[in-house]
Amino acid sequence: MKKKLVLAGGGHAHMVTLANLHQFVEKGYNVTVIGPSEHHYYSGMGPGMLGKTYTPEQVRFATKLVVEKKGGTFVLEKVVRIDADAQIVNLESGDSVPYDVISCNLGSHVPRDIIKDGLEDIYLVKPIERLLAAQERILELGSRKKITIGIIGGGPSAVEIAGNLWRLTREPGVQPADIKILTGKTIMPHHPHGVRIKAQASLKRRGIDIVEDCKVNEIRTGRVTEASGETHELDIIFVAIGVKPNPVFKASGIPTGPDGGLLVNRYLQSTEYGNIFGGGDCIYFNEAPLNKVGVFAVRQNPVIYHNLMATLDGGNLQPFEPGGDYLLIFNLGDGTGIFHKRWVLFGGRLAFFVKDYIDRKFMKTFQAIE
Ligand SMILES: Cc1cc2nc3c(=O)[nH]c(=O)nc-3n(C[C@H](O)[C@H](O)[C@H](O)COP(=O)(O)OP(=O)(O)OC[C@H]3O[C@@H](n4cnc5c(N)ncnc54)[C@H](O)[C@@H]3O)c2cc1C
Repeated sequence: MKKKLVLAGGGHAHMVTLANLHQFVEKGYNVTVIGPSEHHYYSGMGPGMLGKTYTPEQVRFATKLVVEKKGGTFVLEKVVRIDADAQIVNLESGDSVPYDVISCNLGSHVPRDIIKDGLEDIYLVKPIERLLAAQERILELGSRKKITIGIIGGGPSAVEIAGNLWRLTREPGVQPADIKILTGKTIMPHHPHGVRIKAQASLKRRGIDIVEDCKVNEIRTGRVTEASGETHELDIIFVAIGVKPNPVFKASGIPTGPDGGLLVNRYLQSTEYGNIFGGGDCIYFNEAPLNKVGVFAVRQNPVIYHNLMATLDGGNLQPFEPGGDYLLIFNLGDGTGIFHKRWVLFGGRLAFFVKDYIDRKFMKTFQAIE
């Protein structure tokens, strides 16, 4: 019987495997890819899509199309559990998919504990495709009245979302919105002082309010409440309070790291199950915990591809080397950015130009396989 490879999630760490899916098929393996959307959105360009710098088509990969073109099967579903002993993936619909080898690239989510209602006019920064619904709603509301938008959180995604909302609400026919960031400490607390100063200066220059030391402990549609009892009335709320790995592994009883991510060794392989691999935000790399940035997911690509093939073929595994410092460029939404790598730090149009060039090139490389 043909050996079965399952890719759970078609995220950033599976790009090379997806591009080479035909290699598995040609060797006689059965390949199934499971994901809740026919497309995968590139998060690095997500805020730019919100601000209308990019169209959705420019920032997404046609996962289903590629899988089918390469001879695999795409299942439009959510993985809810992995039965590692029975080697079966359970799906939200109640169906299940068997596997011999599985790789998980299931990403991360924004915790919802402080959201007390449903999500009406409340937008989590993940999944990225939800930013499109936010954009539509803001354009609709903003064409009728002046609205107030709040972003809860102070990290890079909060800053990029705020900057790009500023751009969005400068669209013709839309009233410029009041935008405020409500952050527990300051903005960009985990980044160098120079990055923080540049981000603050850019946002403040455009009238974006930064409310510091704001401990939000309750979010409801239209209102945010701080621990002190102070409230903020907001028409639209974005939640950018950090991310946690997909809860599938905890729910499956598979060993996880302290953050709930799939615990993997240097081969990006589960520490307990030799036929389970993973990459991106959903893993906890036992050797050296990694920041939740797309850079690592992208760097893991060739290792995941190699190790899946090696496990199916019976070859040797390759270790993952996270590499040194990585480049981060933040898109501030006004055609400028902040460039930071080691001691190199600068802001302005050149920074955004470099980011735009790198991001478009990355997209073109993988969209070419469509
Ligand atoms: C607004 C924003 C901007 C960012 N900008 C940058 C940046 O510029 N540079 C950078 O390095 N990092 C950036 N990040 C961080 C980056 O998003 C993550 O590190 C990156 O997305 C991780 O990639 P991933 O493939 O692991 O996860 P994801 O990109 O989340 O992909 C996970 C995939 O799994 C699928 N999936 C989810 N749940 C299931 C399920 N239950 N079953 C099946 N499939 C599922 C999803 O549909 C998706 O295709 C940003 C994050 C945000 C929120």
